[in-house]
Amino acid sequence: MSKSNSIIIVGGGLAGLISAYTLAKNGREVTLIEKKIYPFHRVCGEYVSNEALGFLKRERLIPSDLELPAIENFLFSDTLGNSVSLPLDLGGFGISRYEFDDFLFNRAKEVGVNFLTGTQVFDINFYAKEDHFKIELSDSSIHTSKHVIGAFGKRSKLDKVLNRPFIEKRSPFIGVKYHVKTDESRNTVALHNFEGGYCGINAIEDDKFNICYLGSRDQLRTFGSIEEMEKNVLWKNPFLKKLFTESEFLLEKPEVINEINFEPKKLVENHIIMTGDAAGLITPLCGNGMAMAIQSGKIAAEAILSNQDRSGIEGKYEEEWKKLFQRRLWVGRKTQLLFGANKSSILAGKLIKNFPGIAKMILKNTHGKPF
Ligand SMILES: Cc1cc2nc3c(=O)[nH]c(=O)nc-3n(C[C@H](O)[C@H](O)[C@H](O)COP(=O)(O)OP(=O)(O)OC[C@H]3O[C@@H](n4cnc5c(N)ncnc54)[C@H](O)[C@@H]3O)c2cc1C
Repeated sequence: MSKSNSIIIVGGGLAGLISAYTLAKNGREVTLIEKKIYPFHRVCGEYVSNEALGFLKRERLIPSDLELPAIENFLFSDTLGNSVSLPLDLGGFGISRYEFDDFLFNRAKEVGVNFLTGTQVFDINFYAKEDHFKIELSDSSIHTSKHVIGAFGKRSKLDKVLNRPFIEKRSPFIGVKYHVKTDESRNTVALHNFEGGYCGINAIEDDKFNICYLGSRDQLRTFGSIEEMEKNVLWKNPFLKKLFTESEFLLEKPEVINEINFEPKKLVENHIIMTGDAAGLITPLCGNGMAMAIQSGKIAAEAILSNQDRSGIEGKYEEEWKKLFQRRLWVGRKTQLLFGANKSSILAGKLIKNFPGIAKMILKNTHGKPF
Protein backbone atom coordinates (compact mmCIF):
# COMPACT_ATOMS: atom_id res chain seq x y z
CA MET A 1 0.00 0.00 0.00
CA SER A 2 1.29 3.44 -0.85
CA LYS A 3 1.00 6.24 1.75
CA SER A 4 0.80 9.84 0.60
CA ASN A 5 2.81 12.60 2.34
CA SER A 6 3.51 16.24 1.67
CA ILE A 7 7.20 16.34 2.66
CA ILE A 8 9.49 13.44 3.54
CA ILE A 9 12.82 14.00 5.26
CA VAL A 10 15.32 11.16 5.11
CA GLY A 11 17.67 11.14 8.12
CA GLY A 12 17.19 12.64 11.57
CA GLY A 13 20.52 14.22 12.48
CA LEU A 14 20.69 17.97 13.02
CA ALA A 15 19.96 18.92 9.41
CA GLY A 16 16.88 16.70 9.11
CA LEU A 17 15.52 17.57 12.55
CA ILE A 18 15.83 21.33 11.93
CA SER A 19 14.13 21.12 8.50
CA ALA A 20 11.35 19.01 10.01
CA TYR A 21 10.87 21.39 12.95
CA THR A 22 10.85 24.51 10.73
CA LEU A 23 8.40 23.06 8.19
CA ALA A 24 5.99 21.62 10.77
CA LYS A 25 6.06 24.82 12.82
CA ASN A 26 4.96 26.65 9.68
CA GLY A 27 2.01 24.32 9.18
CA ARG A 28 3.42 21.79 6.72
CA GLU A 29 2.77 18.07 6.92
CA VAL A 30 6.18 16.41 7.47
CA THR A 31 7.33 12.84 7.94
CA LEU A 32 10.91 12.22 9.06
CA ILE A 33 12.39 8.76 8.57
CA GLU A 34 15.41 7.83 10.72
CA LYS A 35 17.03 4.42 10.69
CA LYS A 36 18.11 4.52 14.34
CA ILE A 37 16.09 4.99 17.54
CA TYR A 38 16.65 8.10 19.73
CA PRO A 39 18.63 8.69 21.87
CA PHE A 40 21.89 7.39 20.42
CA HIS A 41 25.58 8.27 20.27
CA ARG A 42 27.37 9.39 17.10
CA VAL A 43 30.96 10.13 16.17
CA CYS A 44 31.19 13.92 16.51
CA GLY A 45 33.39 16.38 18.42
CA GLU A 46 30.24 17.90 19.99
CA TYR A 47 31.57 21.47 19.88
CA VAL A 48 28.81 23.67 18.42
CA SER A 49 29.92 26.97 16.91
CA ASN A 50 28.04 29.98 18.29
CA GLU A 51 26.99 30.80 14.72
CA ALA A 52 23.91 28.71 15.51
CA LEU A 53 23.33 29.93 19.08
CA GLY A 54 20.99 32.85 18.28
CA PHE A 55 18.72 30.70 16.12
CA LEU A 56 18.68 27.83 18.62
CA LYS A 57 17.83 30.19 21.50
CA ARG A 58 15.11 32.03 19.55
CA GLU A 59 13.45 28.75 18.66
CA ARG A 60 14.01 27.21 22.11
CA LEU A 61 16.02 24.39 20.58
CA ILE A 62 18.63 24.03 23.34
CA PRO A 63 17.82 22.04 26.48
CA SER A 64 17.54 24.54 29.35
CA ASP A 65 17.97 21.93 32.08
CA LEU A 66 21.57 21.09 31.07
CA GLU A 67 24.54 23.18 32.12
CA LEU A 68 26.39 23.60 28.85
CA PRO A 69 30.00 24.83 28.87
CA ALA A 70 30.74 28.06 27.00
CA ILE A 71 33.95 27.58 25.00
CA GLU A 72 36.04 30.67 24.37
CA ASN A 73 39.64 29.53 23.83
CA PHE A 74 41.50 27.40 21.31
CA LEU A 75 44.55 25.29 22.18
CA PHE A 76 46.66 23.76 19.42
CA SER A 77 49.52 21.30 19.77
CA ASP A 78 51.72 19.88 17.01
CA THR A 79 52.67 16.19 16.77
CA LEU A 80 55.53 16.74 19.26
CA GLY A 81 53.30 18.48 21.81
CA ASN A 82 54.48 22.09 21.29
CA SER A 83 51.42 24.13 22.05
CA VAL A 84 49.93 27.55 21.42
CA SER A 85 46.57 28.99 22.39
CA LEU A 86 44.42 31.89 21.28
CA PRO A 87 41.02 33.31 22.19
CA LEU A 88 38.17 32.48 19.82
CA ASP A 89 36.27 35.43 18.34
CA LEU A 90 32.94 33.67 18.11
CA GLY A 91 33.43 30.59 20.30
CA GLY A 92 30.90 27.87 20.88
CA PHE A 93 29.39 25.49 23.41
CA GLY A 94 29.60 21.77 24.08
CA ILE A 95 26.71 19.28 24.11
CA SER A 96 26.60 15.56 23.38
CA ARG A 97 24.68 14.47 20.29
CA TYR A 98 22.97 11.92 22.54
CA GLU A 99 21.25 14.79 24.38
CA PHE A 100 21.03 17.35 21.55
CA ASP A 101 19.46 15.17 18.85
CA ASP A 102 17.03 13.62 21.33
CA PHE A 103 15.96 17.07 22.54
CA LEU A 104 15.37 18.24 18.94
CA PHE A 105 13.47 15.02 18.17
CA ASN A 106 11.09 15.79 21.05
CA ARG A 107 10.73 19.47 20.05
CA ALA A 108 9.95 18.42 16.46
CA LYS A 109 7.29 15.98 17.73
CA GLU A 110 5.74 18.81 19.78
CA VAL A 111 5.21 20.92 16.63
CA GLY A 112 3.62 17.98 14.79
CA VAL A 113 6.38 16.16 12.88
CA ASN A 114 5.45 12.55 12.18
CA PHE A 115 8.44 10.25 12.87
CA LEU A 116 9.24 6.80 11.56
CA THR A 117 12.27 5.72 13.57
CA GLY A 118 14.10 2.41 13.41
CA THR A 119 13.18 2.51 9.71
CA GLN A 120 15.58 2.79 6.82
CA VAL A 121 14.93 4.32 3.42
CA PHE A 122 16.03 1.88 0.73
CA ASP A 123 15.26 3.85 -2.42
CA ILE A 124 13.91 7.19 -3.65
CA ASN A 125 12.63 7.80 -7.18
CA PHE A 126 11.18 10.92 -8.75
CA TYR A 127 8.31 10.58 -11.26
CA ALA A 128 8.18 13.65 -13.50
CA LYS A 129 4.70 12.96 -14.93
CA GLU A 130 3.09 12.65 -11.51
CA ASP A 131 5.46 15.33 -10.12
CA HIS A 132 6.08 13.29 -7.00
CA PHE A 133 8.56 10.91 -5.30
CA LYS A 134 8.17 7.26 -4.37
CA ILE A 135 10.12 6.18 -1.30
CA GLU A 136 10.72 2.53 -0.39
CA LEU A 137 11.24 1.72 3.27
CA SER A 138 12.80 -1.19 5.14
CA ASP A 139 9.38 -2.15 6.55
CA SER A 140 8.31 -2.83 2.90
CA SER A 141 5.95 0.17 2.83
CA ILE A 142 6.01 2.63 -0.06
CA HIS A 143 5.39 6.33 0.51
CA THR A 144 4.77 9.07 -2.02
CA SER A 145 5.54 12.70 -1.38
CA LYS A 146 5.66 16.07 -3.11
CA HIS A 147 9.10 16.98 -1.69
CA VAL A 148 12.06 14.99 -0.34
CA ILE A 149 14.89 16.42 1.74
CA GLY A 150 17.98 14.20 1.85
CA ALA A 151 19.52 14.63 5.32
CA PHE A 152 21.14 11.22 5.54
CA GLY A 153 24.60 12.37 6.56
CA LYS A 154 28.09 11.99 5.18
CA ARG A 155 27.67 8.45 3.91
CA SER A 156 24.62 6.25 3.47
CA LYS A 157 23.67 3.21 1.43
CA LEU A 158 21.36 5.64 -0.35
CA ASP A 159 24.38 7.42 -1.87
CA LYS A 160 25.16 4.16 -3.69
CA VAL A 161 21.52 3.68 -4.74
CA LEU A 162 21.47 7.26 -6.06
CA ASN A 163 24.78 6.72 -7.90
CA ARG A 164 26.53 9.65 -6.23
CA PRO A 165 30.10 9.67 -7.60
CA PHE A 166 31.95 10.36 -4.29
CA ILE A 167 30.79 7.02 -2.89
CA GLU A 168 33.13 5.10 -5.19
CA LYS A 169 36.22 6.91 -3.82
CA ARG A 170 37.99 5.32 -0.84
CA SER A 171 38.75 7.70 2.01
CA PRO A 172 41.91 7.47 4.15
CA PHE A 173 40.12 8.67 7.33
CA ILE A 174 38.47 7.06 10.32
CA GLY A 175 36.64 8.84 13.17
CA VAL A 176 36.69 7.75 16.83
CA LYS A 177 34.80 9.25 19.80
CA TYR A 178 34.82 8.83 23.61
CA HIS A 179 33.17 10.51 26.55
CA VAL A 180 35.46 10.95 29.54
CA LYS A 181 35.85 12.66 32.89
CA THR A 182 39.11 14.57 33.10
CA ASP A 183 40.58 17.75 34.55
CA GLU A 184 41.05 19.73 31.30
CA SER A 185 39.88 23.34 31.02
CA ARG A 186 36.14 23.53 30.43
CA ASN A 187 36.22 26.72 28.37
CA THR A 188 38.80 25.52 25.83
CA VAL A 189 38.52 23.48 22.66
CA ALA A 190 41.85 21.77 22.00
CA LEU A 191 43.15 20.27 18.79
CA HIS A 192 46.12 17.96 19.29
CA ASN A 193 47.97 16.64 16.26
CA PHE A 194 49.45 13.20 15.77
CA GLU A 195 51.00 11.52 12.74
CA GLY A 196 48.05 10.81 10.43
CA GLY A 197 45.39 12.90 12.14
CA TYR A 198 44.21 15.24 14.88
CA CYS A 199 42.23 14.87 18.08
CA GLY A 200 39.77 17.36 19.57
CA ILE A 201 38.81 17.66 23.20
CA ASN A 202 36.15 19.88 24.74
CA ALA A 203 33.70 19.88 27.60
CA ILE A 204 30.07 18.84 27.18
CA GLU A 205 27.20 18.57 29.72
CA ASP A 206 27.39 17.02 33.21
CA ASP A 207 31.10 17.59 33.86
CA LYS A 208 31.92 15.33 30.92
CA PHE A 209 34.34 15.83 28.04
CA ASN A 210 34.29 14.66 24.47
CA ILE A 211 37.44 13.23 22.89
CA CYS A 212 37.07 12.78 19.15
CA TYR A 213 39.75 12.22 16.55
CA LEU A 214 40.13 11.93 12.82
CA GLY A 215 42.68 9.18 12.29
CA SER A 216 44.18 7.19 9.49
CA ARG A 217 42.77 3.95 8.12
CA ASP A 218 46.30 2.84 7.21
CA GLN A 219 47.57 3.37 10.77
CA LEU A 220 44.67 1.28 12.08
CA ARG A 221 45.53 -1.48 9.63
CA THR A 222 49.22 -1.33 10.63
CA PHE A 223 48.55 -1.58 14.37
CA GLY A 224 45.57 -3.95 14.16
CA SER A 225 43.34 -2.33 16.79
CA ILE A 226 42.16 1.11 17.92
CA GLU A 227 43.90 0.66 21.28
CA GLU A 228 47.28 -0.28 19.78
CA MET A 229 47.07 2.52 17.23
CA GLU A 230 46.36 5.04 20.01
CA LYS A 231 49.29 3.81 22.09
CA ASN A 232 51.72 3.79 19.18
CA VAL A 233 50.61 6.87 17.30
CA LEU A 234 48.44 9.29 19.30
CA TRP A 235 50.40 8.96 22.53
CA LYS A 236 53.52 10.33 20.86
CA ASN A 237 51.92 13.70 21.48
CA PRO A 238 52.36 14.15 25.27
CA PHE A 239 49.02 15.98 25.58
CA LEU A 240 47.25 12.94 24.19
CA LYS A 241 49.22 10.47 26.28
CA LYS A 242 48.18 12.34 29.42
CA LEU A 243 44.59 12.55 28.25
CA PHE A 244 44.31 8.86 27.43
CA THR A 245 46.14 7.60 30.52
CA GLU A 246 44.64 9.95 33.12
CA SER A 247 40.98 10.22 32.07
CA GLU A 248 38.06 8.10 33.21
CA PHE A 249 36.44 6.60 30.11
CA LEU A 250 32.64 6.56 30.31
CA LEU A 251 31.38 4.73 27.22
CA GLU A 252 31.59 0.95 27.09
CA LYS A 253 33.52 1.17 23.83
CA PRO A 254 34.46 3.97 21.43
CA GLU A 255 32.11 5.04 18.66
CA VAL A 256 33.96 4.42 15.38
CA ILE A 257 33.22 5.28 11.75
CA ASN A 258 35.25 4.96 8.57
CA GLU A 259 35.10 6.30 5.01
CA ILE A 260 34.88 9.99 5.90
CA ASN A 261 34.90 11.76 2.60
CA PHE A 262 35.31 15.52 2.07
CA GLU A 263 34.65 15.52 -1.71
CA PRO A 264 32.22 18.13 -3.10
CA LYS A 265 28.68 16.77 -3.63
CA LYS A 266 25.65 17.77 -5.69
CA LEU A 267 23.16 19.90 -3.75
CA VAL A 268 20.09 18.66 -5.59
CA GLU A 269 20.17 15.06 -6.75
CA ASN A 270 17.26 13.92 -8.92
CA HIS A 271 15.13 16.68 -7.28
CA ILE A 272 16.05 15.56 -3.74
CA ILE A 273 17.25 18.61 -1.77
CA MET A 274 20.46 17.58 0.02
CA THR A 275 21.26 19.14 3.39
CA GLY A 276 23.89 18.85 6.12
CA ASP A 277 26.70 16.41 5.41
CA ALA A 278 24.69 14.90 2.53
CA ALA A 279 25.33 18.22 0.72
CA GLY A 280 29.02 18.44 1.74
CA LEU A 281 31.11 17.72 4.82
CA ILE A 282 33.45 20.40 6.16
CA THR A 283 36.70 19.12 7.70
CA PRO A 284 36.12 18.57 11.45
CA LEU A 285 39.02 20.83 12.48
CA CYS A 286 36.75 23.77 11.56
CA GLY A 287 34.34 22.72 14.33
CA ASN A 288 31.24 23.94 12.56
CA GLY A 289 29.74 20.99 10.64
CA MET A 290 26.86 21.01 13.12
CA ALA A 291 26.17 24.74 12.75
CA MET A 292 26.24 24.26 8.97
CA ALA A 293 23.90 21.25 9.18
CA ILE A 294 21.50 23.34 11.28
CA GLN A 295 21.64 26.29 8.89
CA SER A 296 21.32 24.19 5.75
CA GLY A 297 18.32 22.38 7.27
CA LYS A 298 16.78 25.78 7.96
CA ILE A 299 17.37 27.18 4.46
CA ALA A 300 16.04 23.99 2.79
CA ALA A 301 12.83 24.34 4.81
CA GLU A 302 12.62 28.06 3.96
CA ALA A 303 13.07 27.29 0.25
CA ILE A 304 10.09 24.88 0.39
CA LEU A 305 8.10 27.42 2.41
CA SER A 306 8.73 30.05 -0.29
CA ASN A 307 5.90 28.38 -2.26
CA GLN A 308 7.68 28.57 -5.61
CA ASP A 309 7.49 25.84 -8.22
CA ARG A 310 9.99 22.98 -7.99
CA SER A 311 12.74 24.62 -10.04
CA GLY A 312 12.29 27.87 -8.08
CA ILE A 313 12.69 26.02 -4.76
CA GLU A 314 15.75 24.13 -5.97
CA GLY A 315 17.34 27.27 -7.43
CA LYS A 316 16.72 29.28 -4.25
CA TYR A 317 18.25 26.56 -2.07
CA GLU A 318 21.32 26.08 -4.28
CA GLU A 319 21.98 29.81 -4.51
CA GLU A 320 21.69 30.32 -0.76
CA TRP A 321 23.77 27.22 0.08
CA LYS A 322 26.62 28.27 -2.23
CA LYS A 323 26.60 31.80 -0.83
CA LEU A 324 26.82 30.52 2.74
CA PHE A 325 29.01 27.42 2.55
CA GLN A 326 30.92 26.84 -0.71
CA ARG A 327 33.99 28.88 0.19
CA ARG A 328 34.16 27.53 3.75
CA LEU A 329 34.32 23.92 2.58
CA TRP A 330 37.13 24.78 0.17
CA VAL A 331 39.16 26.66 2.81
CA GLY A 332 38.55 23.79 5.27
CA ARG A 333 39.91 21.22 2.78
CA LYS A 334 43.03 23.33 2.15
CA THR A 335 43.60 24.04 5.88
CA GLN A 336 43.40 20.34 6.73
CA LEU A 337 46.64 19.85 4.73
CA LEU A 338 48.43 21.66 7.58
CA PHE A 339 47.29 19.08 10.13
CA GLY A 340 48.12 15.47 10.95
CA ALA A 341 51.77 15.30 9.86
CA ASN A 342 54.94 16.17 11.77
CA LYS A 343 56.31 18.94 9.58
CA SER A 344 53.05 20.55 8.56
CA SER A 345 51.60 20.56 12.11
CA ILE A 346 54.82 22.17 13.42
CA LEU A 347 54.47 24.77 10.68
CA ALA A 348 50.81 25.31 11.60
CA GLY A 349 51.79 25.80 15.27
CA LYS A 350 54.44 28.36 14.33
CA LEU A 351 51.94 30.13 12.10
CA ILE A 352 49.42 30.40 14.93
CA LYS A 353 52.10 31.54 17.41
CA ASN A 354 53.86 34.10 15.23
CA PHE A 355 51.03 35.26 13.00
CA PRO A 356 47.82 35.04 15.04
CA GLY A 357 46.22 37.35 12.46
CA ILE A 358 46.55 34.62 9.81
CA ALA A 359 45.07 32.00 12.15
CA LYS A 360 42.13 34.32 12.85
CA MET A 361 41.68 34.88 9.12
CA ILE A 362 41.50 31.11 8.52
CA LEU A 363 38.94 30.80 11.33
CA LYS A 364 36.94 33.64 9.81
CA ASN A 365 37.01 32.07 6.37
CA THR A 366 35.82 28.68 7.63
CA HIS A 367 33.00 30.18 9.70
CA GLY A 368 29.94 32.20 8.80
CA LYS A 369 28.00 34.99 10.44
CA PRO A 370 25.76 34.15 13.40
CA PHE A 371 22.21 33.50 12.15
C1 LIG B 1 35.45 13.00 13.49
C2 LIG B 1 34.42 14.09 13.36
C3 LIG B 1 34.35 15.09 14.32
C4 LIG B 1 33.43 16.13 14.19
N1 LIG B 1 33.38 17.11 15.13
C5 LIG B 1 32.54 18.15 15.00
C6 LIG B 1 32.48 19.19 15.98
O1 LIG B 1 33.13 19.17 17.02
N2 LIG B 1 31.64 20.23 15.74
C7 LIG B 1 30.85 20.31 14.64
O2 LIG B 1 30.12 21.28 14.48
N3 LIG B 1 30.86 19.32 13.71
C8 LIG B 1 31.67 18.24 13.86
N4 LIG B 1 31.67 17.24 12.94
C9 LIG B 1 30.72 17.30 11.83
C10 LIG B 1 29.28 16.97 12.27
O3 LIG B 1 29.27 15.77 13.02
C11 LIG B 1 28.37 16.82 11.06
O4 LIG B 1 28.61 17.89 10.18
C12 LIG B 1 26.89 16.79 11.45
O5 LIG B 1 26.64 15.71 12.29
C13 LIG B 1 26.03 16.67 10.21
O6 LIG B 1 24.69 16.49 10.56
P1 LIG B 1 23.69 15.80 9.51
O7 LIG B 1 22.33 15.99 10.07
O8 LIG B 1 23.98 16.23 8.14
O9 LIG B 1 24.10 14.24 9.53
P2 LIG B 1 24.06 13.16 10.72
O10 LIG B 1 24.07 13.81 12.04
O11 LIG B 1 25.11 12.17 10.39
O12 LIG B 1 22.63 12.50 10.53
C14 LIG B 1 22.29 11.69 9.42
C15 LIG B 1 21.20 10.72 9.86
O13 LIG B 1 20.69 10.02 8.73
C16 LIG B 1 20.38 8.70 9.12
N5 LIG B 1 20.33 7.88 7.89
C17 LIG B 1 21.35 7.60 7.04
N6 LIG B 1 20.90 6.85 6.02
C18 LIG B 1 19.58 6.65 6.23
C19 LIG B 1 18.56 5.94 5.52
N7 LIG B 1 18.83 5.31 4.37
N8 LIG B 1 17.31 5.92 6.03
C20 LIG B 1 17.03 6.58 7.20
N9 LIG B 1 17.95 7.26 7.92
C21 LIG B 1 19.20 7.30 7.42
C22 LIG B 1 21.52 8.33 10.08
O14 LIG B 1 21.17 7.26 10.93
C23 LIG B 1 21.74 9.64 10.81
O15 LIG B 1 21.00 9.69 12.02
C24 LIG B 1 32.56 16.17 13.07
C25 LIG B 1 32.62 15.15 12.10
C26 LIG B 1 33.54 14.12 12.24
C27 LIG B 1 33.59 13.06 11.19
